Amino acid sequence: MDKAEELEATFRCSICDQEAGRVRFYAAGEPVVASDRPASRAVAELDVILRKIRPAGQASLVVETFYGVESQPVWPERVQALSRAVRSGEASALYGITYAYAPFHCPDCHTEYCGSHWEWKRFEDEFHSGVDAHCPRGHFHVLMY
Ligand SMILES: [Zn+2]
Ligand SMILES: [Zn+2]
Repeated sequence: MDKAEELEATFRCSICDQEAGRVRFYAAGEPVVASDRPASRAVAELDVILRKIRPAGQASLVVETFYGVESQPVWPERVQALSRAVRSGEASALYGITYAYAPFHCPDCHTEYCGSHWEWKRFEDEFHSGVDAHCPRGHFHVLMY
């Protein structure tokens, strides 16, 4: 297993075994490689733009979920904890750093769910938009904000 592979993790729904989400850590300055998903290509293009404006040395975690793909900034002081969390393959470890690194994880159930098992919707108010959801056991969480 090469280093790049170690820093990628896929998570499955504990109910149906479908993919709940995946994450890939990009070290500072490393270009984001598009996967075969159209949404992923959009992020790769976005990242080219972001790299021009983000501070040199800014690492990122690309988080793919059932509602989209996002490139989350990783602050230097979090890089070690984050790479440990990705290697562990534990969504709870990622979620423990920030929910945005593993939004498909329900901290109350201590497990992950896919987009058919989270009952999710987009919301928009005056200042923000995001995604909120109820897990199959009824726990309410904001997945993206
Ligand atoms: Zn739950
Ligand atoms: Zn499922």
